[in-house]
Amino acid sequence: MEAPSAVSSQTGNKRKRDIVKQQEQNHSKEKQDGSKIHITGVPMRDKVRTLFYQVLTTEPQQDHQGRQPIHVTVEEIEEELFSSCDNETGKEYQERFRSLYRNLKDTKNASLREAIVSRTILPKDFVVMTPHELANPELKKEREQLRKESIRESKKSVDTQTFSEEFQCRKCGLRKCSFFQMQTRSADEPMTTFVTCHNCGNRWKQ
Ligand SMILES: [Zn+2]
Repeated sequence: MEAPSAVSSQTGNKRKRDIVKQQEQNHSKEKQDGSKIHITGVPMRDKVRTLFYQVLTTEPQQDHQGRQPIHVTVEEIEEELFSSCDNETGKEYQERFRSLYRNLKDTKNASLREAIVSRTILPKDFVVMTPHELANPELKKEREQLRKESIRESKKSVDTQTFSEEFQCRKCGLRKCSFFQMQTRSADEPMTTFVTCHNCGNRWKQ
């Protein structure tokens, strides 16, 4: 048996859904500007729908047979976004919308717009895409370039360390090790040598 509080909260959620449904029915009519978007009666949601519609119709649309009309896709996107945010238009809804919209609006991101319009990316998948996945191809390439450069930089800094053929890695067998020495015990005892293999990352001291 469920606890009374759980039951009442469920009833509360159902009531909220009913109210939302009611609002949708009351206001469900086509907009006058010909965009055909069904409005929800919730100003925030309708604004989101309108902005998505505008950004997805910036390019001239070719007549693809069997293609879902854009307003249907837009309604689905907003519906998915709304339900994935617990049917609230709060902070999460607004932030997620801003991220999706910003990337859709990117002039260099025609491929993303096309993927949405052609439903190569479905609304339910679109609303959960990460900023990296949403980024335009050029930006993705730039980030990849930065990543490679930082790897190159870190390799460069390795080059300036003391390399010695003297040490052979027991793990990979190569003599590509750098080392440094440190006095770890009393001053009259020999120093400890710390060795790093730059082929496999193995470290040891001797
Ligand atoms: Zn090694």
